[in-house]
Amino acid sequence: MKISDSITKLPGVGANTAGSFGKLGVKTIKDLLFLLPNRIEDQSNLAKIASLRSGEEAVISGKISKVFSRRTKRGSLLIEARITDESGSINAAWFNQRFLLSQLKDGEQIMLFGSKKIAPSMGNPFIVKKIIKSVGYSPIYPATQGLYQGVIQRIVKQAVPLAKDVPDILPPQILKGSKLIHRSEALMGVHDPKNQQELDRARRLFAFEELLGLALSVGLNKQEQRAKGGDKLIIDTDYLKRFVAKLPFTLTAGQRQAAWGIIKGMANGYPANRLLYGEVGSGKTVVSLIAAMAIVRAGGRVLILVPTTTLAAQQAKSIQEMVGKDLRVSLITGHKKETIEADIIVGTHALLNIADQFDRVGLVIIDEQQRFGVRQRQILLRHHGQAHLLLTTATPIPRSLAQTVFGNLEITYLLDKPAHQQRVTTKLFLDEQRPSVVAEIRRRLSRSEPGYVICPAIAKTDQPTLLEIDERKSVIAEAKKLAGELPGAKIAAIHGKIPADQRVEILGDFMEGRVDVLVSTTVVEVGIDNPNATWMIVENAEMFGLSTLHQLRGRVGRGQKASVCFLSQTLFDEKAGQRLEMLEKSDNGLELAEADLSLRGPGEILGSEQSGLPSLRFASLGDKKMVTEVFALADKIVNDGIEKYPTLKKLLVKVDGLAAS
Ligand code: ADP
Ligand code: MG
Repeated sequence: MKISDSITKLPGVGANTAGSFGKLGVKTIKDLLFLLPNRIEDQSNLAKIASLRSGEEAVISGKISKVFSRRTKRGSLLIEARITDESGSINAAWFNQRFLLSQLKDGEQIMLFGSKKIAPSMGNPFIVKKIIKSVGYSPIYPATQGLYQGVIQRIVKQAVPLAKDVPDILPPQILKGSKLIHRSEALMGVHDPKNQQELDRARRLFAFEELLGLALSVGLNKQEQRAKGGDKLIIDTDYLKRFVAKLPFTLTAGQRQAAWGIIKGMANGYPANRLLYGEVGSGKTVVSLIAAMAIVRAGGRVLILVPTTTLAAQQAKSIQEMVGKDLRVSLITGHKKETIEADIIVGTHALLNIADQFDRVGLVIIDEQQRFGVRQRQILLRHHGQAHLLLTTATPIPRSLAQTVFGNLEITYLLDKPAHQQRVTTKLFLDEQRPSVVAEIRRRLSRSEPGYVICPAIAKTDQPTLLEIDERKSVIAEAKKLAGELPGAKIAAIHGKIPADQRVEILGDFMEGRVDVLVSTTVVEVGIDNPNATWMIVENAEMFGLSTLHQLRGRVGRGQKASVCFLSQTLFDEKAGQRLEMLEKSDNGLELAEADLSLRGPGEILGSEQSGLPSLRFASLGDKKMVTEVFALADKIVNDGIEKYPTLKKLLVKVDGLAAS
């Protein structure tokens, strides 16, 4: 058999099975070998029942006794069986798997994969994920209708010996230099791992290939951008100095450096592509404005795209004040269309509709880029491809992530602390400390200081998931409970299922003091800015990423009064506790994002659906060491000329949708 043969050559693969595999894009044996598992279940940890640790996946092996079933309060079928080994016994539990009742027989031996859970109401059971036959590693494949996991596992196993014929993509010198194994070995290692080390080596090769593909694509993209060429900006330093001197405040050192970096980046003879990061209130407007002044002085026009009408109007006004009478600033929104013959044009989405009407555009600034999609940026670039591009954002993006996701952008970090914003005191608390938290809230309410209560869920789910008991607090239930705890306070609930017009009304009531306590899901993260609010409680804080929590707490501390953020920790999870303690200590969004990246992955920082992240199956952007190594290598290859490495072209991915989504 050859790897180019159809999978129907494998024993037991008929037309039906082949058809189902076809849906997964698998036609040949080679395709099958590259149907890589989504994950590998570690069923190698055979543990004694007495030494099981809660929350840790393990395999137990023992004798069945006392099989019984009952309905839970929420109506699901719970099957329990006593399992005994030489160290002790435990109740194994399954939800909604009626067929097991005839299979679990008193006195028989059974091997179970799952984990012990602290649920005193159920006698701390062993929640079973699977009944298994042998201890080891089990690859879990992307399944599809009509194709069971077990069938895929069996068929792939037959093909594994043929993996020896799969050629390498990485040239030998790279494999050697980076201590990587051959593709053939790696395929055997993921489909049929014998031990953890084999698995790790296999994963490392696939991660490396994947990341190199991304890094090369980004590198080539950058090269292409530079090859475009363009006018070299002539910088009038004196003019800019005079402008800065006339500002109503002194620039911070960080602002000076950032502005100068951005301007220099526009003088390289090709269009600059840059992201300016700074926390909310760090003064990004004036930094981008200095860059804009450099362009205007050289005879160019500047377009500034802003997410909302209010912000656009504010920006246009404050920019006009800062630049004075000599320059023309105009505003273009859905309601208002001032002249397109201005030096600096501030606008909302409405600006995009007339983007083609502007000439001499030297710089496009997209303010708060995370609020826009890739499409908006592409519209601007289509009409003004030679213009420099400056994106600003308040979403902290660690360098290692920026390098990959925003690889075709240079990054400027504005790290000075905004002077006028107060530090918010952050406190973790456990349920038994709740009375003192409530007392503090009462004190604040009596001083007419409104606040927020954030919950992870809208309402309790009716359907418990298979393995988890829903312990999340909900907006609806908490609003009701708080009404009892805070007599006299006006409490309102707000969440995504409330119609938009009603939400606007509730927010208005909150802003104007007709509501004291806003119980909300994380929707408040975007948009609300009530300077009177001085407190926040986040329920089940352990369920959120550090970046999310940091942004949530940024909703308080916006006025003169000292503010506090209480993080409630309901689950006794030591790791989660340590993670949350970082919030008590650090007020630095970038530092927290770094921690998030290594602890929870990039989806947490960028928001998985709108990040525009390429789907990385093996590589982790949190693996700084590999990211650094691979990006350095890619740089070298791109400089050398990718033509010298023909096989590497197979790794290239589409990256133009990456940044700024
Ligand atoms: P953001 O980074 O969120 O866009 P802004 O540019 O809107 O922040 O700045 C926030 C406020 O801080 C503005 O009112 C601005 O005038 C003010 N500001 C900016 N830089 C300084 C500075 N160096 N000294 C004092 N105030 C400043
Ligand atoms: Mg801003």
